[in-house]
Amino acid sequence: MLSAVLLVAVGFGLAKSDIISSLQGPETAYASAKELQQAISELREALPGKVTTETIALDSYGSSSNSYHPSHPHSVVVHAQSTDDVVKVVDIARKYRVPIVPYGGATSLEGHFSGVSSGDICIDISAMNKIIEIHEDDGDLVCQAGARWEDINSTLKEKGIPLFFPLDPGPGATIGGMVGTGCSGTNAVRYGTAKAEWFLNLTVVLPNGKVIKTRRRARKSAAGFDTTKLFIGAEGTLGIVTEATLRLAPVVPTKVAMSQFPSVEHAVSAVQEILNNPNGSHIQCVELLDDKMIIAINKAGLTSKVLPVSDTLFLKLQGTDSSIKETANAIKKIFQKHGSSNFEFAATQQQADELWENRKYALMSTIAAAGDSSKVWTTDVCVPVSRLPELVYETKKDLAQSGLTSTIVGHVGDGNFHAIIPFKGEEDLPLVSAAVHRLVHRAIALDGTCTGEHGVGIGKKEYLVDELGPDTVALMRSVKNAIDPLNIMNPSKLYPGDETIPKDH
Ligand SMILES: Cc1cc2nc3c(=O)[nH]c(=O)nc-3n(C[C@H](O)[C@H](O)[C@H](O)COP(=O)(O)OP(=O)(O)OC[C@H]3O[C@@H](n4cnc5c(N)ncnc54)[C@H](O)[C@@H]3O)c2cc1C
Repeated sequence: MLSAVLLVAVGFGLAKSDIISSLQGPETAYASAKELQQAISELREALPGKVTTETIALDSYGSSSNSYHPSHPHSVVVHAQSTDDVVKVVDIARKYRVPIVPYGGATSLEGHFSGVSSGDICIDISAMNKIIEIHEDDGDLVCQAGARWEDINSTLKEKGIPLFFPLDPGPGATIGGMVGTGCSGTNAVRYGTAKAEWFLNLTVVLPNGKVIKTRRRARKSAAGFDTTKLFIGAEGTLGIVTEATLRLAPVVPTKVAMSQFPSVEHAVSAVQEILNNPNGSHIQCVELLDDKMIIAINKAGLTSKVLPVSDTLFLKLQGTDSSIKETANAIKKIFQKHGSSNFEFAATQQQADELWENRKYALMSTIAAAGDSSKVWTTDVCVPVSRLPELVYETKKDLAQSGLTSTIVGHVGDGNFHAIIPFKGEEDLPLVSAAVHRLVHRAIALDGTCTGEHGVGIGKKEYLVDELGPDTVALMRSVKNAIDPLNIMNPSKLYPGDETIPKDH
């Protein structure tokens, strides 16, 4: 029905604002102030010792020092410890029509877990961090949704199990949040993103209070369409993930290499050639740090060595000693063909760690090099790899014309890049925000996306119609309306037009 309305709207050439307002969700009358207090009392009764309304907690759980989008404190924070706790919260929220905002590691960057102006319950899943079962022979693991990816990998290592979970977003991210944002990271060039089949099964509490499992533990299933995927990238707007079965990959030895190029274009064409080469499957990560980033790294001095200033690729190669050697030789030849001035291959683990430090400290170096009291806005767009040089070139030109400096770090094998833009104070925000806006439109015009991995949250909502078209967004909205007819699950995020203006406030 909604889709039909939109088709008519587009057919009659309606303005984008009209299209977006036609995508709004149902107009829920959220809880009044009195009902909200009743809901909080019921939460205290149902979950003794797990409910907080201290102002400092409400503020800190509702905002992020990594995001400059409008934020709002929550009305109450509940620290869930089990799926049953989550069901209790959802049942009370539904009874009083109070929005719920799921909260995991709080590392997301687009205002994803901000409170809602009409009042909301923030449900903190981070204490649900147990690994429940490890099936080494099957190469999978069952955990609670608050488990952090780094803890999972260190537990596997400590137990001597030669397997790991390859999705690697920000430090501290949890499985529930990673499902929520549809994350990826440096390993995506080899292992794909959260949208590949790394989540075999999810336990989800739906807005109607029902607890579902999206699948069983089998590696493959053709039993109907993929309900697991519904929740990947849904940003907590369709349900709350409480447990997950993760597929694990074998740990493969890696070696690190670094190479300098005369331009981003040279570096990208070298990457394209190596990834399409038979040795391409041995590349676990290929990261681009632009010349400005190298200057920042050298200035910040957080790493062991001063590097030549140039657009630089950092690679992790994986495989047996002989296959890594063969791959390194192939890469060296290809890179030389594309103008590489230097190819450094870490002979020892210590050298490898030292080289990779540069990638690891890229963000911190940008902040340190920008000087005291500087903040940074981190962007995330993704384009077909061949369009990356154009995007980088135009963006650098635009930022310079705007009087902004920026460093660039890219998961270049996927065409995913982040401009890290330092600024001093609130007064600079409009300038930075306008530059980011132009960058996103540039990426979409190059057949790319407004977000390769960080997700939509509040910050990228306005681009979805341009990127996907109104009918695709209307389809997403229809799914949302069917699963969450009261629009209580993380409203005002993800869906354009959803501003959750309360009726009775
Ligand atoms: C320094 C830094 C580096 C980063 N690098 C990367 C990177 O390389 N790749 C990348 O993809 N991202 C990166 N990120 C972003 C971030 O780490 C990811 O978005 C991550 O997936 C968020 O996980 P989280 O647990 O912190 O989720 P949160 O921030 O807590 O939540 C994210 C979203 O998921 C929802 N949510 C949380 N828990 C649940 C649940 N149990 N059920 C349903 N919904 C839930 C929330 O409501 C919210 O909408 C980086 C961030 C930082 C700060």
